[in-house]
Amino acid sequence: MLNPDLYLDSAGTMARYERDWTGDHAGRAALVLRPRSTRDVSKMLSFCYERGIAVVPQGGHTGLVGAATPSATGQEVILSLERLNTIRSVDIANFTITVEAGCILQDVHEAAASVDRLFPLTLGAKGTCQIGGNIATNAGGLNVLRYGMMRDLVLGLEAVLPDGRVFNGLQALRKNNLGYDIKQLFVGSEGTLGVITAAVLKLFPMPRHTVTAFAALSTVDDALRFYVRARTELCDLLSAFELIPASGLELATSFRTDLRAPVGNAAAYHVLLEVQASGDLDLNTLTQNFLMKELENNGILDVAIATSARQSSEFWAIREAMVEAEPHYGQHLRTDVSVPISKLAEFIIETDALLEQHFHGAIRLPYGHIGDGNIHYNVLPPRSVGEGDLADYLHACEAMIFEVVDGLDGSISAEHGVGIAKQSAFMQRMSPVDLEIMAEFKSFFDSRAILSPGRILPKSN
Ligand SMILES: Cc1cc2nc3c(=O)[nH]c(=O)nc-3n(C[C@H](O)[C@H](O)[C@H](O)COP(=O)(O)OP(=O)(O)OC[C@H]3O[C@@H](n4cnc5c(N)ncnc54)[C@H](O)[C@@H]3O)c2cc1C
Repeated sequence: MLNPDLYLDSAGTMARYERDWTGDHAGRAALVLRPRSTRDVSKMLSFCYERGIAVVPQGGHTGLVGAATPSATGQEVILSLERLNTIRSVDIANFTITVEAGCILQDVHEAAASVDRLFPLTLGAKGTCQIGGNIATNAGGLNVLRYGMMRDLVLGLEAVLPDGRVFNGLQALRKNNLGYDIKQLFVGSEGTLGVITAAVLKLFPMPRHTVTAFAALSTVDDALRFYVRARTELCDLLSAFELIPASGLELATSFRTDLRAPVGNAAAYHVLLEVQASGDLDLNTLTQNFLMKELENNGILDVAIATSARQSSEFWAIREAMVEAEPHYGQHLRTDVSVPISKLAEFIIETDALLEQHFHGAIRLPYGHIGDGNIHYNVLPPRSVGEGDLADYLHACEAMIFEVVDGLDGSISAEHGVGIAKQSAFMQRMSPVDLEIMAEFKSFFDSRAILSPGRILPKSN
């Protein structure tokens, strides 16, 4: 008999696990399991495995591809990691932190900061998403250009296999070439291979100096060239470089009327950049000299440098408001694509032209992480599109954007994963060999296909 403290089964208590953060995906859970330990997870999974009961691991439920939401059948059990939320240890000299999978990302930031260390992964959902979810989605976010994605930040990992066996790979080693790197298989596996219960994560020196700047540019080509110079001239201390189109600035400032564009808002593009250093370095002078030279050489049109932490937060608030404003607009298209950085301008210019020609009147929002070649090319449909036509309209926009991505050897999912939402586009693009290898991995780990069935690969595989 399962201890009643370890599960929820009433409609009222399960409701919050059945709908994702965006409200885009919803379903019905058979039961919500809430283990308190790796041992609990192991017992629960072995029970379900023997009986062929489908289990879907769930973290903060902020994923954007519907992978953590139960299906509408009411037959899937949600396994919430929220109670495995202990920071097990911090090793200051080893620059590592060992955490349980249900730790909220922001709590990990704070635990690291309390010992003067930085855990660099950061994203808009940091107050809700969990480390296990970040690992299972191989999350990216704002600092990838300097610190890499979650995959680059995981040194060790503990996971429970679908049949209840525990994989203990919780080493805190930077160098370890003992055979295959098994832990990496769980990174980005979207809950299909095992349930991550703990991880050892890399930490970095806490930056002592941060300079945030907001620059105006005429074209996306200029933004790209500016990025290349910034990356080189700023001694590799650049930690964020975000593109914001004029349409995004307008959306943000009309959603949050208390926000003002730090520089004239007539420019076609803005870049929000951040430079950070941990040691005793005159970062202000380095950055100011660089930006003044850019102005003199017409590399940028204008620039504002934040003079306080408060002003820096205000710059970032524009980036965040742009994202928050989108759902308020109503149904819209969100994409998460990547191309080689060198082809990013070409991607935006070509997509702009195609959408302008075929979807005139749509608000185009190509924003994102230039330094990672990752653009969220989002589209807000014109109000004239009737509700009944919206889904087809947005789907057609998406297909057009994906075609450009394909032509530039890019990816239709840079950081959000495949889940359910991207499955059909994913299946169209994978080679038979890719699909065979993935299906073999899946069946090796989970021969009864109980874990997150139908996520990434369709159920028949
Ligand atoms: C406002 C906002 C901004 C965002 N910005 C970014 C961004 O910049 N970059 C980015 O990459 N993503 C971003 N995301 C997407 C999302 O936050 C990330 O995908 C995040 O990593 C998901 O974590 P989660 O704990 O919410 O996972 P969930 O949504 O709960 O789950 C996501 C997937 O991971 C699996 N999973 C969860 N926990 C475990 C576990 N312990 N073991 C095995 N599988 C597990 C689930 O089954 C599911 O497949 C954003 C989302 C929002 C809402």
